[in-house]
Amino acid sequence: MGFSTDAIHAGQEPDPTTGAVTVPIYQTSTYAQEALGKHKGYEYARTQNPTRMALEKNMAVLEAGFASYAFASGMASITTTMMLLKSGDHVVCTDNVYGGTYRLFAQILSNLGLEFTFVDTSNLENIRNAVKPNTRMVYLETPTNPLLTLTDLNLTADYCKEMNYLMVVDNTFMSPYLQQPIKLGADIVLHSTTKYLNGHSDGVGGIAVVATKELAEKIAFLQNAAGAILSPLDSWLVLRGIKTLAVRMQRHCDNAMKIAEYLTHSKKVQKVFYPGLKDHPQHELARKQTSGFGGMISFETGSLEKAKVICENVRIFSLAESLGGVESLIGHPVSMTHASVPKAKRLEMGLTDGVVRLSVGIEDVEDLIGDLAYALEQI
Ligand SMILES: *Cc1c(COP(=O)(O)O)cnc(C)c1O
Repeated sequence: MGFSTDAIHAGQEPDPTTGAVTVPIYQTSTYAQEALGKHKGYEYARTQNPTRMALEKNMAVLEAGFASYAFASGMASITTTMMLLKSGDHVVCTDNVYGGTYRLFAQILSNLGLEFTFVDTSNLENIRNAVKPNTRMVYLETPTNPLLTLTDLNLTADYCKEMNYLMVVDNTFMSPYLQQPIKLGADIVLHSTTKYLNGHSDGVGGIAVVATKELAEKIAFLQNAAGAILSPLDSWLVLRGIKTLAVRMQRHCDNAMKIAEYLTHSKKVQKVFYPGLKDHPQHELARKQTSGFGGMISFETGSLEKAKVICENVRIFSLAESLGGVESLIGHPVSMTHASVPKAKRLEMGLTDGVVRLSVGIEDVEDLIGDLAYALEQI
């Protein structure tokens, strides 16, 4: 089946009891059993919930995985995945990783005996130089937030297979519509469903998609044991969002491309970060491993003051954290999403005070460009 057909139908047969075409919200904590040890496969809702399981089946198909598991937030999916490791294990991680992921790894999991080395994973040599005898996992985000640096998934997966490392990819920025890391060799794909998968900025959630039966058994065990599950209502909202994922992503990409080109020509903008631009250093890699360039753009204004003027003078873009919804958002990574990353670390990655980040929504692009033009004029 094609992606859009799967997005709408996979895991979502009409309800056997009533024929309802939309999977019902099974708002229940437990299930009546017919006799001791005799039940319909549902015992307790932390372990099994039909609405959540419909989403999990759907996402396994969309990411070309073996199975998937839904969590209460993107961070919960990451935390649970890291529980595959044990004290003493070492992880090589993309340095420009989501701020919350950096905080979890550097400030919490490192106290529990896990070791992390953060490197620029866009160059495989850096990963090779960072590994140790106790390395167990390579954790990647591509493209990165907010500077949109890419890591070659195929190349890195070949290396991870050779070395027997688990390769985990946070695919939140692309969604499975634009990038399917398991097809390129990843073992686990993570999402904050809060972003493009839900797509309507009305729920927080996460998902982990695994490539093999062995990993499925381990993550299923951890999901139930640690318990950070996605609620039935939130599962339903993500399922509903995914039905329009393909059309939304097309529009996000179209609008973002036009805005990136507009910004490139603005005299008030020093540099535009967007993988769809020919001058992006990894434009060719983006063309190879993604089927579109996504809805995220960052640009350099030159100073904190200028970034502030832009963020405070837009009227359609909302000044807010998060991304991936139908509505356009603007943000200042240094003071908002990346506040927990130490300044020296930020500057090392090229994340300066003047960087502004856009999550381009699916409004009329002329209106969005007009909004940015007005804000830029105020500098
Ligand atoms: C938002 C985000 C997360 C965290 O997800 P939550 O749903 O906010 O917990 C992780 N990774 C990336 C790339 C994100 O954008």
